[in-house]
Amino acid sequence: MPEILIKNADVVVTMDGARREIAGGDVLIRGGVIAAVGQGLSTTGAVVEAAGCVVTPGLVNTHHHLYQTLTRAVPGGQDALLFGWLQTLYPIWAKFGPEEMFVSAQVGLAELALSGCALTSDHLYLFPNGARLDDTIAAAGEVGLRFHPTRGAMSIGVSDGGLPPDSLVEREAAILEDCIRVVDRFHDAREGSMVRVGIAPCSPFSVSRDLMRDAALLARDKGVMLHTHLAENDEDIAYSLAKFGCRPGQYAEDLGWTGDDVWHAHCVKLDAGEIDLFARSGTGVAHCPCSNCRLGSGIAPVRAMRDAGVKVGLGVDGSASNDAGNLILEARQSLLLQRVSRGADAMSAREALEIATLGGAKVLGRDDCGALAVGKRADIAIWDVSGIEAAGSWDPVASLILCGPTRVRDLFVEGRAVVLDGRMATLDLPVLIERQNRLARALI
Ligand SMILES: [Zn+2]
Repeated sequence: MPEILIKNADVVVTMDGARREIAGGDVLIRGGVIAAVGQGLSTTGAVVEAAGCVVTPGLVNTHHHLYQTLTRAVPGGQDALLFGWLQTLYPIWAKFGPEEMFVSAQVGLAELALSGCALTSDHLYLFPNGARLDDTIAAAGEVGLRFHPTRGAMSIGVSDGGLPPDSLVEREAAILEDCIRVVDRFHDAREGSMVRVGIAPCSPFSVSRDLMRDAALLARDKGVMLHTHLAENDEDIAYSLAKFGCRPGQYAEDLGWTGDDVWHAHCVKLDAGEIDLFARSGTGVAHCPCSNCRLGSGIAPVRAMRDAGVKVGLGVDGSASNDAGNLILEARQSLLLQRVSRGADAMSAREALEIATLGGAKVLGRDDCGALAVGKRADIAIWDVSGIEAAGSWDPVASLILCGPTRVRDLFVEGRAVVLDGRMATLDLPVLIERQNRLARALI
């Protein structure tokens, strides 16, 4: 099997059990797997010189709506709260089709890759004009990221008292049928898998109680994970109390939506009882600090979640509610946001980096990713810290979060180069950007 040796890094941040940081460190890749981590390693294969760089596990993104890269900074949604924001964007999304899904996904995935992300989930919950989950899976295959697409859904349209237009909702029987189709066709449970499918009704207020329960039963039957939006803001809590007579955590638990095969996005408004429920049940959280700031949703109690033992990963969220998709900046934002409410010792740079790597891998059920250790998958980010952003830094590891850089030099996924010398190695980025801008202009 071909070998690649990443050699002589200023620091290798392993995120292994001892959280070792190895000065002058090397990482040996053999096939798609890490064969050795240490100092003074040698190879007969290719050598990637990493002097002046910090090497980390590839970052992990646990929440996104890739299709939304086509609706960044839409004027009518720039200053609206969550529900008003959605009502502005639904009619635009209703014009999407397979090409929009494919191109926007590639843009979102490339943007993530350039910010050091090797593994990402995606939450696609609308399928207008023949669009399918297949379109985003094809996009990820070409970009080369490890991909956890989730088959989302909405079934309660305007005529049933819901938010989305009727043209964007589906019949619940058809939703479950297509969930079965995409799981059977694409889900790969094996170690080192490049595609794992999840089941993900959009939110408790966009599908029926029956569909939430049936989705959980189906996911357990198929051995796949469950994902949705939960407890995002005050409106969300008020809706849950009024409509279901209970808080979101109770609703989730009653319908089978807790457990180590479940992760929920946002969870800004979890109370102490719900944090305890998540910790006891192994339920994960996708923390999306930029989106929470952007939509004014609040500050997720990440400090309390982590202290209680809740699994927390990061999510850039959709590019219509961020509007960026840079994961290392998201890690920085997670640190800043905890400090706004809890003080300067609320979260260290190293903890933010851990949440962005190992934390996300745990949320997505990937024991084989998120750390640089023998036998783990070779998902590796190489950060050049010799540039202006970190000039004068005393601590290159902390500087990744506190200073920069905000783009990787190189990114390997399953041992294959996705980014080299700061450029996408798997696709022609200017051509992709032009195609995306052409599609965006056609939607106006
Ligand atoms: Zn979201």
